[in-house]
Amino acid sequence: MIKLKNVNVIYPTGTHAMKDVSLDINEGDFLVIVGKSGAGKSTLLRTLNGLVKTSSGSINIFDKEVTTSSKRELREIRSKTGMIFQTFNLVTRTTVFNNVLTGRLGEMSTLRGFFGLWSDEDKKIAMDALKEVEIEEKAWTRASKLSGGQQQRVGIARALTQKPKLVLADEPVASLDPVTSRKVMDYIKKINVELGITTIVNLHFLDLAKDYAERIIGMYDGKIVYDGMVDDITDADFEKIYGGQLTEEDYNETRTN
Ligand code: ADP
Ligand code: MG
Repeated sequence: MIKLKNVNVIYPTGTHAMKDVSLDINEGDFLVIVGKSGAGKSTLLRTLNGLVKTSSGSINIFDKEVTTSSKRELREIRSKTGMIFQTFNLVTRTTVFNNVLTGRLGEMSTLRGFFGLWSDEDKKIAMDALKEVEIEEKAWTRASKLSGGQQQRVGIARALTQKPKLVLADEPVASLDPVTSRKVMDYIKKINVELGITTIVNLHFLDLAKDYAERIIGMYDGKIVYDGMVDDITDADFEKIYGGQLTEEDYNETRTN
């Protein structure tokens, strides 16, 4: 469903953030990308829906080539791709329900969207999404009143209302405590398993990745240094992902979650 071939990203600043990355992702996969801060995880996710321009290589997604897509094609790719963010990105002064409804914007005309003219079907899809993450009783609560974990569940519901074929989650639990992190990861895994939505999650911590992923991609300095099943990962792979000279403190830090 997604195929990257020799993708390079060089930012205008000169930073070479993706180096010759090749990757195949199948429909229904639950893929976790791990790596230190600055490894290129976010850049990789953003190239998939054209938010970051590639310098060379090709990215095929939903049978379309992202790197040469027209604006209209990019819009279509983005409307099928739900995003979940580290900082939730909710409009906190409005209700949970309104936040989730914005996931329908890609499906309606600009004018209808501007005036918030949601159809009954939009409303049903939004409510179903809230039920999927078991937070429908908060539908009429202002988003600002929710805890971080609840806000992220709303973030998941908003992504679901897009009826996405693909969900991209960029460090979705990095702002949450360990217990809440697991709850939120459980919901992300649930939408993959129950709804069959292909899901790619960036995570800083390997331990959390190990509990949820089947296949793990390890990135270091813009390169893929590991691509394999969770259970096959060795200490040597771990060192490749987190950089050769780890102190014991660094090592523990990547394993505390
Ligand atoms: P990660 O998500 O693994 O922390 P990023 O993809 O954010 O890594 O960053 C990879 C590298 O690209 C880093 O060196 C970062 O500083 C750089 N970078 C990220 N975004 C930009 C940008 N918009 N402009 C210039 N450099 C960037
Ligand atoms: Mg990042």
